[in-house]
Amino acid sequence: LRAHMMERPLMISDILAHAARCHGDQEIVTRLPESGQIHRQGYAATHQRTKQLANALIKKLKVREGDRVATIAWNSHRHFELYYAVSGIGSVIHTVNPRLDPKQLIWMLDHAQSKVVFFDKTFAPLIDAISKHCKSVRHWVLMTDASHKDGVATKCQSYEELIADQSTQYEWPMFDENTAAGLCYTSGTTGDPKGVLYSHRSNVLHALACSASDVIGVGARGTLLPVVPMFHVNAWGIPYAAPMNGAKLVMPGAQMDGPSIHELIESEGVNYVAGVPTVWLGLLQYLQKSGKRIDSVERVLIGGSALPEALLRAYEDEYGVVMQQGWGMTEMSPLGTVNNLLPKHDALDREAQIKVKLKQGRLVFGVGMRIVNDDGEELPWDGKSSGHVQVQGPWIASSYYRGAGAESFTDDGWFKTGDVAYLDGDGFMTITDRSKDVIKTGGEWISSIDLENAAMGHPSVGMAAAFGMPHPKWQERPLMVVQLKEGAEPDAASIIEYLRGQVPKWWLPDAVEFIEEMPIGATGKILKTKLREIYAGYEFP
Ligand code: ADP
Repeated sequence: LRAHMMERPLMISDILAHAARCHGDQEIVTRLPESGQIHRQGYAATHQRTKQLANALIKKLKVREGDRVATIAWNSHRHFELYYAVSGIGSVIHTVNPRLDPKQLIWMLDHAQSKVVFFDKTFAPLIDAISKHCKSVRHWVLMTDASHKDGVATKCQSYEELIADQSTQYEWPMFDENTAAGLCYTSGTTGDPKGVLYSHRSNVLHALACSASDVIGVGARGTLLPVVPMFHVNAWGIPYAAPMNGAKLVMPGAQMDGPSIHELIESEGVNYVAGVPTVWLGLLQYLQKSGKRIDSVERVLIGGSALPEALLRAYEDEYGVVMQQGWGMTEMSPLGTVNNLLPKHDALDREAQIKVKLKQGRLVFGVGMRIVNDDGEELPWDGKSSGHVQVQGPWIASSYYRGAGAESFTDDGWFKTGDVAYLDGDGFMTITDRSKDVIKTGGEWISSIDLENAAMGHPSVGMAAAFGMPHPKWQERPLMVVQLKEGAEPDAASIIEYLRGQVPKWWLPDAVEFIEEMPIGATGKILKTKLREIYAGYEFP
């Protein structure tokens, strides 16, 4: 028996139309990338400008359905308008990570065959270096007004000139909700970048799932600061979830250092912030130095890599914010799990609660998960059986753009995340490693993440990375590379001593080496591939 319900497609344009109508004066506040000045505009005005942009894309830039339109840009109201206008007309917003090296950028724009590139002024030197090599690109648009075009060699027009003479009238078309809306490439920490093509349906459902109170859970009283960039995995869905719920959005532009983030939090009364651990480390150092506080902040969503224990303790104990760990990835739009304490954890003492909070969290409704061993057999959720994590769901990629990486998908329709984890009876997942980073020693697995987290508590350790180095007897033994905190003295023995008792004895690194500056990848994570290159041929003392 078929139901009698409307089959209205899930359209991204409906999110902004709703925000404009019901939360019209709720603001998007931007620190403009080109000037550092603060810009404000409501959702109603944003909707009008987005319609002007839609008209300009169609009439002036001749963007057609399915065409890719790229952005190389910070978080801003203009980037937000592009998210909605490009998808809204039926074309595809291809967000490009500017921290990639120029060769990769050229490769990506070509692979996607992007026809237009919108870029921020701060990236003008990068654009000038690559533009002549980007054969598919017909138009370059500088995301400023006309007065900022000086010093840009690439022939371009400004965003404000582009939309100024366009009508604010535009009827968003309705089409198949499975139409592609966005394209984001994995950052290539695990090989060649692969394109993930999101749909209207997947982004709207993901935003709805994010809206639940145990996920992002913000309403019209919420003020969100996504420090997580809009050029990587839809800024974790916040540009969709915030307007859907009428929350105020605060966009940090190009300045994500501690003082700038702190200033925005204070001046805008931010109560919810999201970003990777490196950002929160930077802010913490600034807070500790300056004695400033972030009293308006209630929750911090932290993900992209494991939440370091020291960071959790500092923010929760000293600054009274709730640190909420999330896990996900480009292929998952990105959210898969979020960590929230359950009522039964209220009875636990603080140390036991911290142990729970350091897990990656529980599944968001809509994401299915299983863990399997090397032979593909499913493992129980018993709090100890560690296996490869596979997921499925309506906002999980079913394949990569243009047929890459078919080996990441199982025959029975699951996506292999590349992460290794165990789950407990309540469904809390603990990531123990990435499949390729597990340290395999004498037939047993050592979790590089556990080693790193343990080391991060040592008073002189700023950053730590553990990885396996070839060993004649044990196949691999762990080497730990440490970037010291400012002013700290290298003392390998004290770090090993500190780890003893926290991890099994046979996990202890065979050596600790010190590095001036940890190699950090385009998404703010430590680049173990680079470390492996640096320490290639290393011999344990
Ligand atoms: P990539 O770095 O390959 O481009 P993403 O930026 O999409 O991929 O990051 C996804 C990966 O980041 C996950 O597969 C996982 O290994 C890691 N990750 C994300 N969140 C967490 C977390 N909370 N704890 C540990 N690892 C995480």
